Amino acid sequence: MENRETNIRILPPELANQIAAGEVVERPSSVLKELIENSLDAKATSITAMIEDGGQACIKVSDNGVGIPQEELQLAVTRHATSKIKNISELSTISSFGFRGEALPSIASVSRFRIASYFHNNKEDQAYALDVHYGEMKEIQPIPLRCGTQIEVRNLFNNIPARLKFLKTPSTEFKKAQEIFTRTALIQPSIAFDFFAGTREVLSFSLQDSIYQRLCKIWAPSITKDMLEVMTQYDEEISIEGFISDPRSLYSRGDKLLIYVNKRPVTDKMLVKAIRQAYQRSLTTKDYPQLLLNINIPPEEIDVNVHPAKSEVRFRDEKRIFKAVYSVLDKTLSQKLFFNQDVFKETQNFDAQTPYTYIKEVNPSQSEFSDFSERFNATIPKEDISSTYIESPHVKPAGFWGEVNAYGMKKQDFSDKNTEIIGSLEEGKTEKKNIYTNNIPLFLCQIASTYLLYKLPSNEVFILDQHAVHERVLFERLAKKQKIETQTLLLPLRLNLHPSEKEVFFEMQNTFEELGFNCTLSNENTLICDGIPPEFQQTSAENFIREALKNKNADISSKFMDAACDAALKANQNLTYTEAIELYQQWANCDEPDFCPHGRPCYILLERKILDKLFKRI
Ligand code: ADP
Ligand code: MG
Repeated sequence: MENRETNIRILPPELANQIAAGEVVERPSSVLKELIENSLDAKATSITAMIEDGGQACIKVSDNGVGIPQEELQLAVTRHATSKIKNISELSTISSFGFRGEALPSIASVSRFRIASYFHNNKEDQAYALDVHYGEMKEIQPIPLRCGTQIEVRNLFNNIPARLKFLKTPSTEFKKAQEIFTRTALIQPSIAFDFFAGTREVLSFSLQDSIYQRLCKIWAPSITKDMLEVMTQYDEEISIEGFISDPRSLYSRGDKLLIYVNKRPVTDKMLVKAIRQAYQRSLTTKDYPQLLLNINIPPEEIDVNVHPAKSEVRFRDEKRIFKAVYSVLDKTLSQKLFFNQDVFKETQNFDAQTPYTYIKEVNPSQSEFSDFSERFNATIPKEDISSTYIESPHVKPAGFWGEVNAYGMKKQDFSDKNTEIIGSLEEGKTEKKNIYTNNIPLFLCQIASTYLLYKLPSNEVFILDQHAVHERVLFERLAKKQKIETQTLLLPLRLNLHPSEKEVFFEMQNTFEELGFNCTLSNENTLICDGIPPEFQQTSAENFIREALKNKNADISSKFMDAACDAALKANQNLTYTEAIELYQQWANCDEPDFCPHGRPCYILLERKILDKLFKRI
């Protein structure tokens, strides 16, 4: 028998600790995280941390928590010693941050470590400190300390050069540490937190600072000013709270997604996906929202013992959590309509006394004219014989937005539609098709052949992006299969189908019809299409059919998106007044008018406040 080079033997505790340290403490920030979590578990109401030289030289955390009795100090730095659980069943309902009894011994095995604690009991009134140098325990000594626990970690990884090499520059390590400190501190408003870089204080959250106020201290006002508060009891067990950004203030990185589960900071792809999905209608593919979100869930529904650093959790029922997060955010976001339709519906109270002149071209043969002239004191100025005007020097009727526009309209704008006003001014008579009685904003002009400018009843400037808006309109029409009409093709499309495409075609035939495609299968393999929806160009129709036939389970809505984009009005295209009004109306009737299907905004609103600011009135 060959001699084995080594025999199996139990590792000495220092070595075991150093190996464990590789998992638990990767870098200064992970040390800081473990120490803060211990302070939280000790019910501290004030936690102060200090780091020097990115944490490699020194990390120090002090708290005013319950403390550790002298006789337990050595246990605190012994592996698998913890005060937090007694048996495995407690692990499933764990509510403390720690439970593995690994952090302190691991840290103490790779640093010059000191734990000092004051524990008040009847026997004595004295604090003690225990030093551990790279795993080697020293004598316990009495020290002056009046409350809580203080832990100092110096020369981290000095005994493990391989580890030291993996540390980044002190300023990078400092940033990581600050990030971890901040993340923990944000979600604990009943605890005061202070963070120092050497002697310089870099962050201070007082007990008076709410979660939102804490967020305001670390994020720019442009993000925090329009945040929505979330506070929803989703079902009997799950509640979700936090602050989420206005979908218009998107951001190109995902680093401002602060997600917590039972106040434990976590990173979780599934949760990020749920969040992005809720924001989907306002997101382009590269955008992220910013938010702080805490999911409260019974501890038995999650497993936190997945990773030694405990930054990941496993959910017993992932789908349920996904749905909870998605639907709570979706609901919160849709409750605040960013396109505030109320502004448009509101009927402005006119001051009936205000002198006002309304000029409008009318067809003089209209029988309503005499009625109108009486009610609004209208006359036809005699000097103007080339066209006919009504001048009404006194009152303007309520809910009548079209008025001033008469000055700015182009000739062609005095269409039949507009003359209907006269007929619908009678009380209670509101014809849907009459654009003015719908209280639409006033169309002013088109800018750069791309943007449509309106004035709102509430004196705000309102700008639509014609392409985005039209895309949204077409997209919804396609998605709802609202067939308007079918445009007949003189030269039908002919597509040779692969047998697999043929299969899909039979399944989708009805859908095609509903959308406005006239498709038949001529012989074995040729699809003939002689009618397509009016939104489509011939080539885009062909692409659409091809794509749709590729895979019956394909995401049809992304195809609608492409088709809508293809067919929508482009930028640099002149619109007439009537077209601008019609486009506005179609858009205002959309279910989700805020963003185009790709997530670009459809409109910009310049509130009076903004104008006042720009002109330095306020
Ligand atoms: P765990 O937190 O998993 O129990 P640790 O190694 O982090 O393991 O800590 C070991 C024990 O030391 C804890 O269970 C706790 O009893 C005690 N302890 C650590 N830090 C503190 C502190 N700041 N205040 C009071 N007790 C502490
Ligand atoms: Mg711990």
